[in-house]
Amino acid sequence: MAFEGLTGRLQSVFSKLRGKGKVSEEDVNEAMREVRLALLEADVNFKVVKDFVAKVKEKSIGKDVMDSFTPGMVIIDIVNKELTELMGGSQAKLAKANKPPTVIMMAGLQGAGKTTTSGKLAKLLQKGNHRPLLVAGDIYRPAAIKQLEVLGEQIKVPVFSLGDKISPVEIAKQGLQHAKDNNLDYVIIDTAGRLHVDEDLMEELKQIHSAVNPDEVLLVVDAMTGQDAVNVADSFNKQLELSGVVLTKLDGDTRGGAALSVKAVTGCPIKFAALGEKIDALEPFHPERMASRILGMGDMLSLIEKAQANIDADKAKEMERKMRNAEFTFDDFLEQMDQVKKLGPIDQILDMLPGMNKAKGMKDLKVDDKQMGRVEAIVHSMTKQEKSQPEIINHNRRKRIAAGSGTSLAEVNRLIKQFDEMRRMMKQFSGMMGGMGGGGKAS
Ligand code: GDP
Repeated sequence: MAFEGLTGRLQSVFSKLRGKGKVSEEDVNEAMREVRLALLEADVNFKVVKDFVAKVKEKSIGKDVMDSFTPGMVIIDIVNKELTELMGGSQAKLAKANKPPTVIMMAGLQGAGKTTTSGKLAKLLQKGNHRPLLVAGDIYRPAAIKQLEVLGEQIKVPVFSLGDKISPVEIAKQGLQHAKDNNLDYVIIDTAGRLHVDEDLMEELKQIHSAVNPDEVLLVVDAMTGQDAVNVADSFNKQLELSGVVLTKLDGDTRGGAALSVKAVTGCPIKFAALGEKIDALEPFHPERMASRILGMGDMLSLIEKAQANIDADKAKEMERKMRNAEFTFDDFLEQMDQVKKLGPIDQILDMLPGMNKAKGMKDLKVDDKQMGRVEAIVHSMTKQEKSQPEIINHNRRKRIAAGSGTSLAEVNRLIKQFDEMRRMMKQFSGMMGGMGGGGKAS
């Protein structure tokens, strides 16, 4: 999963700070040196890193922070807020034309994921009760038109195509007219890419742009290419005035540099993130959620949203309340495991939970259903009281639970340790969400 290296490094910086009752200027300097290295290693643009570290340092060295009861936590909160700002502050929403249809022009280099993303975006719009039209404007890549048609068929979204003998400008124009004639409210125009940014490509895109006057020009960039993605975005933006960026392949092990630099370098907000090849693997980009994910504080809001879409809303609300109040018990854990199973790829779900990426053992427990079954067996072997008050589970109880569940004492110990860690992280996270509850004097 993306950002793993960065998350690990930042967490080790912060765990040093967190352990301190008092933080000196020297400690802050040392921590910032490490943050700087961590960001550079994650392939974040060096100028962006420099500015970022300078800002965090300036805010961290104040008397308020140093004198607070939990300076480490205050600094983590500062980093969290600055990371959020770096990625745009708040969610940048898709534009909507005053008079439909809203025209979205997709651009990007070949292989970035433009065609796939066009399909995903259509699906997302369709889910929001819209009626999108896909327009096949990539007439150069041999399979692109067919690919879009297959995607359209899969999600039951109409695809407008005139084959590969007509100019993309004409296809875009006629596509737009087709949407108007058929009362469709979004037009997504897939365009051609090249291997590199070149003049022909830009010229064609400019012509399409002036022919259909799009409400959105979304540049699709491959997050795996790191700084290259940022450079590509920069050159497109200089010629085409992008309105937003879609970052694809965030499911891969990208170090994260593109996500963290693209807004600062180009001024263009990231509007969507693609996290897989499947048609529904596209999400609106939320800077604040991404920041907390990067900091290893999980992405509970996305998780809760996902849960709400798939699961009983009341249950999800209750779960959210418990997470925020750190009242999470083993019963909740079991229920959550049940629900998690309904939510799709387990490693992605675990990634959203606070502390999961830190709790190394938990990684071994994921993915494999058989191992999930063992975890469930352990929890089922606990008494009612043990499930709701895990702190009473002493050595003898653990031995009994291991025997009862047909697992080993080591497995039981590990699960309880991870559970404690998770609760601890939730508590910290909810503390920070509540404006540094218990966070001393700083605000
Ligand atoms: P285009 O040339 O820009 O239209 O690129 P395509 O849409 O054909 O995508 C290129 C390849 O990237 C395809 O194999 C896609 O399945 C893959 N791809 C696109 N988006 C993602 C993503 O978010 N994650 C992963 N893992 N693969 C993706």
